[in-house]
Amino acid sequence: MVLKAVKTGMLESNCYILGDSGEAAVIDPGADLEEIMQALDEHSLTLKYIIYTHAHFDHVAEGDKLRKETGAKVVIHEDEAPILEDPILNGSAIFWSGKSAGSADMLVRDADVLKLGNADLEIIHTPGHTPGGMCILIRTDSCIFTGDTLFRLSVGRTDLGAGNTSQLMVSLQRLMELGDEVKVYPGHGPSTQIGYERKNNPWL
Ligand SMILES: [Zn+2]
Ligand SMILES: [Zn+2]
Repeated sequence: MVLKAVKTGMLESNCYILGDSGEAAVIDPGADLEEIMQALDEHSLTLKYIIYTHAHFDHVAEGDKLRKETGAKVVIHEDEAPILEDPILNGSAIFWSGKSAGSADMLVRDADVLKLGNADLEIIHTPGHTPGGMCILIRTDSCIFTGDTLFRLSVGRTDLGAGNTSQLMVSLQRLMELGDEVKVYPGHGPSTQIGYERKNNPWL
């Protein structure tokens, strides 16, 4: 299911490319559009969704170009849409000369499911790092994409603009209800597993 993880941009955000039955989804295209396009091409995939775990510029910067090249739909949590459109809140005014990533085509909320080929991408709303942060769970593949909510041995910052520590703690507790074996693909850094984090992450 996870075809490729691409480390992108100066903050080394992880971009993930998923494919199933000819359809693809790209999670957090922060940079390196060419590499993303190449992977889609190599595997003869039609890009259906461009999914943002949250609206920070290092996760969305190439999303608009990717949408123009492919016609795919940009998906974001409904509570995150205002941040996507605000260059101060999403950091692009500081790091990315205020360029806009455009607006989303599809707003989702907790428990929504996106169909990708034969796979179900389940949305879990995990506010805290930002109000509309979300994780994408694929139960059949036992994996979850956690954006800037959960990292290997760390968790997302809550001291940026719209962060909220108590919300983040509630969100992390929800993730800890998943099985030990669930593989975690975070927005930065190496992948991990829920069981490993439950045991070793000092923030949990
Ligand atoms: Zn972030
Ligand atoms: Zn980030």
